[in-house]
Amino acid sequence: MGLTVFRYRRRTVLAIIAIVLLLLITLWRTAEWAERIGLENLHERAQHDLSLFVAHLQGELARYQSLPTLLATEEVLAGVFQNPDHNVNLVNRHLKTINDIVDAADIYLMDATGLTVAASNWNTSRPFVGRNFGFRPYFQEAMQGQLGRYYALGTTSKERGYYFAYPIRRKGYTLGAVVVKISLDVIESAWGDDGNAFIVTDPDGVIFITTRSEWKFNTLKALPRERIARIKASRRYGDTDLPPLPVVTQRPFADQARILRLREPIQGASAKTRQVTYLMQGRAMLDAGWKVHVLSNLAPVRKQVFNATLLAGFVFALLVLTTLFVRLRQQNAVALRRARDQLEQRVKERTADLSESNKRLRREIVERNRAEEDLRQTQDELIQAAKLAGIGQMSAGINHELNQPLSAIRSYADNARALMDRNRQDEAQWNLVQIAELTERMAQIIKQLKLFARKTSEQTTPVSLQGSIDAALSLLATRIHREQARVIRDLPIQDCLVLGDAVRLEQVFVNLIVNALDSMSNSEYRELSIKTVIHDNAQVTVSLRDTGPGIPESHLSRIFDPFFTTKEAGQGLGLGLSISYRIIDGWGGVLKAVNHPEGGAIFYLDLPLVPIQEEADVLTEEAAASHG
Ligand code: ADP
Repeated sequence: MGLTVFRYRRRTVLAIIAIVLLLLITLWRTAEWAERIGLENLHERAQHDLSLFVAHLQGELARYQSLPTLLATEEVLAGVFQNPDHNVNLVNRHLKTINDIVDAADIYLMDATGLTVAASNWNTSRPFVGRNFGFRPYFQEAMQGQLGRYYALGTTSKERGYYFAYPIRRKGYTLGAVVVKISLDVIESAWGDDGNAFIVTDPDGVIFITTRSEWKFNTLKALPRERIARIKASRRYGDTDLPPLPVVTQRPFADQARILRLREPIQGASAKTRQVTYLMQGRAMLDAGWKVHVLSNLAPVRKQVFNATLLAGFVFALLVLTTLFVRLRQQNAVALRRARDQLEQRVKERTADLSESNKRLRREIVERNRAEEDLRQTQDELIQAAKLAGIGQMSAGINHELNQPLSAIRSYADNARALMDRNRQDEAQWNLVQIAELTERMAQIIKQLKLFARKTSEQTTPVSLQGSIDAALSLLATRIHREQARVIRDLPIQDCLVLGDAVRLEQVFVNLIVNALDSMSNSEYRELSIKTVIHDNAQVTVSLRDTGPGIPESHLSRIFDPFFTTKEAGQGLGLGLSISYRIIDGWGGVLKAVNHPEGGAIFYLDLPLVPIQEEADVLTEEAAASHG
């Protein structure tokens, strides 16, 4: 049993571990799969956004790219260098007009030394006119006869700009250059949102266009100090420090793409930062010398992963529950079947047991019957023995009883003969009548003795209680009389019939009365009171109370035992009460003894009464029999 439980527990634990492992693997695989799909989608979408942004940038630059070349052909500009009296103001206005039309930041004219001689912003608070930008690479490139391109933080305007410069050449001489500057601040404002951030980096990895202002002039990775010094010397980005982006971790994702985790300030909480993960992918813009990147926030992917994992967990749980449910039902069915089998088996066993115990019972009944038979026989023998003993006991009395009438008869006979000799017929007649009466009485006594000694049958018949008591009293009349015992007989007039045997019932009363007389042998006053009480017309109790010493407490439980006697040897066998008890018990009655509080013993004899109806029937039958 214990081993089974242990095995069962172990199996359950293993199953739980397996389920948990399976769940973890499922969740993990789902998360992995969802992340891959999410990232691929994001990658694709971001590529598309990137293309759009690059196209937008290219378009923006392309709009201005040919403008300096065009302006360089204008004589009004070249005139500034060819004719000292040339009206520069006119040129300034012309440049402003063009600048306004094409919506550039600034357009200006530089001489061969890099000094700005005319500019569209000539009348603003910070005009370029008079300033030398000869150090700028776009100027140097233009001076070499090419289209100069450059992007930088304006030294005067402090605005980030893209510069196109083209030389003004006349008759084989390069007179100067015309420069168109476009503002890059405008480009940023229209792009970028929560999900996507765009950045444009130079070959050093410096971010100079970005839709996220906090990243402006950060570098993709930390630059060596001498490199920073060189960039600073070029004055491209003014005095800015060029710190690296706050990258926490990064890993490659695909070609030209990687996953970056950045520390970002939380808006509204100045000191606090959070970490945000981006998928970053870049594309080179060779013309401009830039690299454009798009950083896509992974939050939506994370959310998708979470949702997918949750769904997978849910589906898994559902599957497990369904499986469990099915299994439980199967197990239940198995358990039910097993229980039914066990029950059947047990019923079979019980049936076998029962039939076995039935057999045993039957055997016991047979044995019991035999024992009962033996007992009855023994009892009969005992009764017989007791009777004989009783006869022995009574023989003295009987002797007296018979001897007395015998001697009387003898003297009456003598008298009669003498009287007849004297021919006194009448007197002789009287004596003969006396003799006849005496023989009648003797016959009576002998009849009683015969009745007592007779062995009785087992059958019970309605017997008159009063009749039995009177018969017993009459049997013992001589002794009662001799011992001067007073008998109070308080019995109902109507016959009480009990189911029993006349001889035995009489014997019971003889026993009880003899015992009472014996007990009172030393008493001063001898009184035997016999009373009858009827209960509910169904039960009768006969009480026999004597004025003897009563029964000692210690004997009360033993007096009904066979051979228990307190009488001298030869006086009693100790069988009387035990036989009486058995007789009464055999008829469904009770015989018990108590002591009266005022002295003397009381014997109670309870017997069921024959119901009136039955009694009437019996009487009728008897009457019919006697008539028949
Ligand atoms: P026996 O009369 O041969 O002794 P019983 O079975 O009739 O046998 O009585 C058993 C004993 O019960 C008697 O010896 C006596 O001690 C006690 N006993 C019976 N009847 C009475 C009585 N009425 N008063 C006192 N003792 C009694």
